Amino acid sequence: MGKKKAKSAILSALRDACANEGKAVAFLEHQRWGDSPFCPRCGIVGEVYQMTDRETKERNKDYRWRCKSCKKMYSVRTGTIFEESRLPLRVWVYAFWKACSSKKGISALQLCREMEITHKSALFVLRRIRHGLGDQPGPMLSGTVEVDETYHGGKPRYRGQIKKGRRTRKTPVIGMLERGGRLRLQVMKRVTAKGLRSAIAKYVVRSARLMTDDFNLYRTAGREFKGGHFTVNHSARQYVKPGTDIHSNSIEGAFSLFKRGVMGTWHSISTKHLPNYLNEFEFRHNTRWDDDGERTAKAIRAADGKRLTYRDSVDRPQSA
Ligand SMILES: [Zn+2]
Repeated sequence: MGKKKAKSAILSALRDACANEGKAVAFLEHQRWGDSPFCPRCGIVGEVYQMTDRETKERNKDYRWRCKSCKKMYSVRTGTIFEESRLPLRVWVYAFWKACSSKKGISALQLCREMEITHKSALFVLRRIRHGLGDQPGPMLSGTVEVDETYHGGKPRYRGQIKKGRRTRKTPVIGMLERGGRLRLQVMKRVTAKGLRSAIAKYVVRSARLMTDDFNLYRTAGREFKGGHFTVNHSARQYVKPGTDIHSNSIEGAFSLFKRGVMGTWHSISTKHLPNYLNEFEFRHNTRWDDDGERTAKAIRAADGKRLTYRDSVDRPQSA
């Protein structure tokens, strides 16, 4: 009962926040500070108050706060991704909600139509939201973990080259999926035994059972897993080892869902922005048991404090 009530409360708060700037501000303040607002400039809790307009006695039109301790003014935008633009916060709340609720996310084109903002602003908002969703803290993957790579972007450069990813010029993405659990996706510069090993070691516990196809570069990583390294012989068109649970169908399913999302909603993604789309996809997978309201609240909290790293993220690949 309590949980159901909380669920509808957050959804109705979201709906109100998308229509009214004051409510959007209050919603974000609550997500950020809960019941104990603090000063983002000096970190002092409790010594802060909302500023009011001298004539109307209502909240100041920029929704500012002041800190009694450091005497500085701030707002819910201070130190967040919202600080970089003057867009109304109800636009941000709406974008977070939509990015977190529909199965395939929202495109900049849809956002600019629905919120009557420019396409450029819509891109700006969505890029920052996606960036904020990246590299969420969480337990390492354990149990049975499937690992595979997929390849993104342009046609292979040389005619006659095998089109299927490996040994082409496409951008590799490694995917690691705990069966029944979390997903991790990471862009790689090049697929090497060393690179695969370090990506897997970063996210998967040593005691796991590792499942891959028979691609030989997984052997180095595979040797380190106490639970064993099991392979399915894809080159012989085998997809499940008969009579066993040895397969990598779940991670392949996740890749194909990602690709359908790319084609269906975003049409094309440049390699530069690929990590951001992977963030969004990974986040949605890892919060799949949450309802839309909880997921949106998590996304907003995740974006908190990531403002300064955005530019780095688009100008530099995520991993070696
Ligand atoms: Zn202060």
